[in-house]
Amino acid sequence: MDLKGLLEKYEAIKAKNLKIDATRGKPNAQQVALCDEMVNAPLDDFIAEDGTDVRNYGGNDGIPEMKRIFAELLGVEISEVIVGGNSSLNMMFDCIATMILDKHWDASRAKFICPAPGYDRHFAVCEYFGIKMLTVPMTPEGPDMNAVKELVSDPDVVGMWCVPVFSNPQGYVYSDETIRRLAAMPAAHPAFKILWDDAYPVHYFSGKRPTPLNILNECRKNNNESRPIMFTSFSKISVAGAGIVCMAAAGESQAILRKRIFMQTIGPDKINQLRHARYFKNVKGVESHMQKHAEILRPKFERVIEIFSKEFYGTGATFTTPKGGYFISIETPPGCAKHVRQLCKDAGVLITEAGATFPYGNDPSDSNIRFAPTYLSIEELEQALEVFCLAVQIAAAEHS
Ligand code: PMP
Repeated sequence: MDLKGLLEKYEAIKAKNLKIDATRGKPNAQQVALCDEMVNAPLDDFIAEDGTDVRNYGGNDGIPEMKRIFAELLGVEISEVIVGGNSSLNMMFDCIATMILDKHWDASRAKFICPAPGYDRHFAVCEYFGIKMLTVPMTPEGPDMNAVKELVSDPDVVGMWCVPVFSNPQGYVYSDETIRRLAAMPAAHPAFKILWDDAYPVHYFSGKRPTPLNILNECRKNNNESRPIMFTSFSKISVAGAGIVCMAAAGESQAILRKRIFMQTIGPDKINQLRHARYFKNVKGVESHMQKHAEILRPKFERVIEIFSKEFYGTGATFTTPKGGYFISIETPPGCAKHVRQLCKDAGVLITEAGATFPYGNDPSDSNIRFAPTYLSIEELEQALEVFCLAVQIAAAEHS
């Protein structure tokens, strides 16, 4: 179709006054309902395995049965796990705050390595603390490790973000070689940390569950056991915003984080921990529950891939084909992403702000767009995709 035809089609769609929000990677109503049984089930007693009454204060680092599930999920020792509240992002924020307040990092000089496209909230946290962000390109194997290796030789580089499995927004999984190099590379700052945000470890909807190398084990082999601080979350396993999260660390990192936790709180919500531990029991229980999510998500991702494959033909736009996670990453021809988003917005379809996947919202080629298919029903998704693909076609034609 020529540009005139595309614009006519666009005007016709605009007249439908659509109102569709595909901005955030949220689970949909059907997914969160999968845990209604857990949320509604009465707890017959309130006593954890070690005799802790979960209705009372204490147990700052979690009840044993929940620690055990997280230790198995992350492949770490139970003693390395600190169970938190309902938000892993909150734990990451606090972790950075602690490193600064305890003077391990100097906020006025600190720099962070930010693989991009990446998770906008990670970048927002760095920006909040005034940490200078250094962008490195993402590849299907993980961050460009030659670029990372060079940057960590700067003594002001204090940390790095990593989403190792089903990265936000591409759905990439780090290769073992990337993980080995992250663990082994020399870092000039003595308290250099990798914030290992394992937000999607069991969120696969096709193929097998990815089993990348364990970052903590690899770091330990290289005498860098304090380097990684691992995080994971039940937000997209049980209920978003009312799940359970944890962090895991060893050596000096473990000591720093424990000290802060014991100052900061007299204990997290252990009733919710007990509810989760009794419902899921172990990682097998989590995996079988995730199959139910997969049944809901797989058809949506398949539909998006099918439509993009057809509609992007001839536009120069490309997209990732994740086997899990919550997002698909699109590369439009250079200079088109903001235009695509605006065309979608004007036609009533909201997608994530173009540029949000880069530090400071600055996508140098204005080409990356994060698409979040999970929250929409299949019908809404098809409507959103019609608008989105048309916008890509128009922007590509106008910019060629
Ligand atoms: N990390 C990543 C990579 C995410 O995609 C998300 C959710 N979008 C989070 C963390 C937030 O997790 P939580 O709900 O535990 O704060």
